[in-house]
Amino acid sequence: MAASCGEWNKNEGATVQANMRPVNCPAPLCDEAATPGGTRRAGRSRRRALDARIVDAHGRYDDGMTRRSALVVAALAAGAALAGCATNTTPGGVPIDARYASANQDSRVLFVVLHYTVADTAASIRTLTEPATEVSAHYLVTDDVLPVIYCLVPEERRAWHSGASHWRGHAMLNASSIGIEIVHPGFRERADGTREYLSFPKAQIDALISLLKDIVRRHGIRPERIVGHGEVSPQSKEDPGPTFPWKRLADEGLIPWPDAGRVAAQRAVFEQQLPDAAWFQQMLLRHGFAPLAGGVLDEPTRRTISAFQMRYRPASHDGTPDAETAAILHVLVTPP
Ligand SMILES: [Zn+2]
Repeated sequence: MAASCGEWNKNEGATVQANMRPVNCPAPLCDEAATPGGTRRAGRSRRRALDARIVDAHGRYDDGMTRRSALVVAALAAGAALAGCATNTTPGGVPIDARYASANQDSRVLFVVLHYTVADTAASIRTLTEPATEVSAHYLVTDDVLPVIYCLVPEERRAWHSGASHWRGHAMLNASSIGIEIVHPGFRERADGTREYLSFPKAQIDALISLLKDIVRRHGIRPERIVGHGEVSPQSKEDPGPTFPWKRLADEGLIPWPDAGRVAAQRAVFEQQLPDAAWFQQMLLRHGFAPLAGGVLDEPTRRTISAFQMRYRPASHDGTPDAETAAILHVLVTPP
């Protein structure tokens, strides 16, 4: 977003001009419907005829299919349409035969990147949809008492939310991720210049979790690939910030979480001898962060440690390495 996610985020230049405006979102991804948890999703158009027979406005199916099979059919149909398989000929008249569907395929979506907007809903929608900003996200989750999930970009298209980014060996994640913006003010500056990060309403997180579960199921996204903008771009971003309730996502089975007993035992070890900067750099890389070099506690390393702390140890997240941070990192990177 404009304030917190400053730079606009398209991966490449003029090749994606069609993305300059939000386009209609196909059912079941974001047509007027409800998530499995009942949160409203607001689409911009009626669903396409191709999908209309599969999902009704309440997520039910008119032909008795299970939700899973219906979604598979919808995904395959959408994929076929995008690939041109749904047409009978090329514009030049060459026939296209779509009778052989390969079993060897999966989703192009590998990651979910979470953001906050530092703006209210109206300003967030403007920023995420108007051409001049060159910023977008697939979804926007509002902070209303009854949150609304707006779909601004169809899942099969690229949204511009993460720009220069890296996670687990993948770079420029816009092409391989779904971006979710959360309406949230970020932080307030106190009189002494320190920051007060504001909390997230429970209903908003409930809505987000409902959406995440739906996305994870449909795309088969691995738990370690649900990340914050601050983790994939730690040198310039920090959203969704240290008050984002990552532990709740862990409790819902969406992301991994370090075992408290293992962390306590390993912390005792590291309190005797804190690992050096080179160890932190190596372990942060193994965890998923972009490579760090030099073996010294420089600013890029501190920012990366801070991003890690914001998720797993938010009580203190100034990037200073300590035994607890090292223990959490060790436990996450080293399977039992
Ligand atoms: Zn962001």
